[in-house]
Amino acid sequence: MSHRIFNFSAGPATLPEPVLRQAQAELMDWQGMGASIAEISHRSAPFIEMAAQAEADLRRLLSVPDDYAVLFLQGGATLQQALIPLNLAAPGQVADYLITGHWGQTALKQARPYVDARVVASGEANGYRGVPPRADWCLSGDAAYLHVTANETIHGVELRDRIEADVPVFADFSSSIASEPIDVSDYGLIYAGAQKNLGPSGITVVIVRRDLLNRAGQPRADILTYASHMARDSMLNTPPTFNWYLLGLCLRWMLDEGGVEAFGHRNASRAARLYAAIDGSEGFYRNEVAPAVRSRMNVPFFLRDATLDAEFLRQAGERGLMGLKGHKVVGGMRASLYNALPDAAVRALIDFMQEFAQRHG
Ligand SMILES: *Cc1c(COP(=O)(O)O)cnc(C)c1O
Repeated sequence: MSHRIFNFSAGPATLPEPVLRQAQAELMDWQGMGASIAEISHRSAPFIEMAAQAEADLRRLLSVPDDYAVLFLQGGATLQQALIPLNLAAPGQVADYLITGHWGQTALKQARPYVDARVVASGEANGYRGVPPRADWCLSGDAAYLHVTANETIHGVELRDRIEADVPVFADFSSSIASEPIDVSDYGLIYAGAQKNLGPSGITVVIVRRDLLNRAGQPRADILTYASHMARDSMLNTPPTFNWYLLGLCLRWMLDEGGVEAFGHRNASRAARLYAAIDGSEGFYRNEVAPAVRSRMNVPFFLRDATLDAEFLRQAGERGLMGLKGHKVVGGMRASLYNALPDAAVRALIDFMQEFAQRHG
């Protein structure tokens, strides 16, 4: 086995080693077909069976109720941010957006051509260091939906309280899906690009309450229509077959590892240890997000002396700790702690951070 780094990339992100090994072993000959899964028709029985198994595994992993459809689509999370208003709101209808970071802003931008998108509250004035208090939210009342970002991958802000609203709540779960148990029925729609916590890029999961798909929405092509994708089992056109397969292997791996309960415990403990190391560094490192809404999956942090940033990344790299540079929108550092990241990586990061602080503090 060649050398593997400790990969803290925010996405595309690290994949489970057993998944990579299995994909490697099956690349020349998948299920005795004498071809890889990337080389066969999506209309073939073995492919259809693989796809159905992936859906069954996702439903089991997330306890998805039967009155929800599961779609496997292309175009990433960003395309869903446009498809949501196109499918689920009338032209010019009001839609509410809670903005807790960068990805909430992109959702708003993608929706603006289609709906009267209103910001119910925004953490922007506060530098996205927290979630605006519920008492300050200005809900429209007649909105088609309320859109929220469950976990802000760049700003490191995670919604921790159940969102109560009179309209269906639509949530971008790209970077925290399957990181802990959730109640799917709290949401009208959940979407997640797979490349953070579920598998490879190029495939996006949409979980949507079936009755919502009866909404007329707006003039749009069939290929942009959720109901059409549902009717054709997400094979309206050629799906991203290899990505779907890799996603399926990741889902199976998560179930084998104990499912979302096990990951929930593991992720909470890992994040707590990293935040404790940051908070215990006497200001050498800092994270500015309100503790109650700090992300368990993406931990942005800053060095007190930013002139040490390059040296920090260089020395981290020497130890095989990669992908720690913060997003350009906020700078500093960011450690993404997705399900597939081994525990040893988090321990190695904390050890390194403490040693670095001692040497340079
Ligand atoms: C990465 C990310 C996106 C964008 O995903 P794409 O698949 O690149 O469109 C949107 N929302 C969140 C929360 C993300 O983490």
